[in-house]
Amino acid sequence: MHSKANILLLYTGGTIGMMKDFETGALKAFNFKKLLQRIPELKQLDCTIETLSFEKPIDSSNMNLQRWVEMAEVIEQKYEEFDGFVILHGSDTMSYSASALSFMLENLAKPVIFTGSQLPIGDLRTDAKENLITAIQIASLKQKGKSVFREVCLYFEYKLYRGNRTTKINAEHFNAFRSPNFPPLAESGVHLKVNNETISTKISTKRLVVHKEMDSNVVIVKMFPGLNETVLSALFEIPNLKGIILETYGAGNAPTEEWFISTLKKAIKKGIYVINVTQCSGGSVNMGQYETSTYLKKIGVISGKDITTEAAITKLMYLLGQNVSAKVFKTIFETPLRGELS
Ligand code: ASP
Repeated sequence: MHSKANILLLYTGGTIGMMKDFETGALKAFNFKKLLQRIPELKQLDCTIETLSFEKPIDSSNMNLQRWVEMAEVIEQKYEEFDGFVILHGSDTMSYSASALSFMLENLAKPVIFTGSQLPIGDLRTDAKENLITAIQIASLKQKGKSVFREVCLYFEYKLYRGNRTTKINAEHFNAFRSPNFPPLAESGVHLKVNNETISTKISTKRLVVHKEMDSNVVIVKMFPGLNETVLSALFEIPNLKGIILETYGAGNAPTEEWFISTLKKAIKKGIYVINVTQCSGGSVNMGQYETSTYLKKIGVISGKDITTEAAITKLMYLLGQNVSAKVFKTIFETPLRGELS
């Protein structure tokens, strides 16, 4: 007999559950249980749904490491009880959270689907209903008794993506996310089309391990013509700084000026990890393709390859939190752990 999937819906905040404040007109988080009552369609779904909410739902601009741990702990505690998890989250930092959770949840064998919306669920023209309903259907999807999706995903505007491959690209369009270097895992149209070549088919028999330690002594620096020595060297003097994501030009290129190279070299010598990520919205770092990146490789800069900045910074915080030794840090960073780079 076919048993219904059991889905846990976790509301963390975000526009999806917000309402307009009468006095100021600004959107703020609201009691989500009440809002859910406005979606009678949920009763038609072929699954059972339980809901849980952050005690104080947040705008995702207030997302932080502690809240990632809270989300991970909900999954850890409810892992055996549920077949899939849908996390309602503000779109602003959704790609960061999806990336972080992908690293924190090792050996995941069930779907964790992040979704949200650009308009509140109570709005007449809302995109929330479709996102929510399809995300729940996706989380319920099984084949031969096993979940079809066994990783952290992000569903938005008819597309399901690997969460740690996404980036928010638009503050207004319903189509707010893109996965520049990896195809969607599924597309929702008249049929839900699963892209079998892209989904993780690894069947882990190992137990779920939840990593809760992350180290935020890190920084992201975007290169621009005009970045000067005083500014860059001051950054490397930050007490306890352990790693930097350097958003370089094109295929991983940066200035060849002496001060720039020696500043980086000094930092790397001090034990600070420097990771090269492209500031282009698609494509990969390839150190050595141009003269302007050859020396970066020589001095020990780590290649982020085609990783997004969101996945790079969360992977950095995760690996630092695991106390990965300096000897293997570069190799591990350059190796895909959860399909975050090619
Ligand atoms: N500011 C909101 C948030 O990220 C935007 C959204 O939900 O889409 O929480």
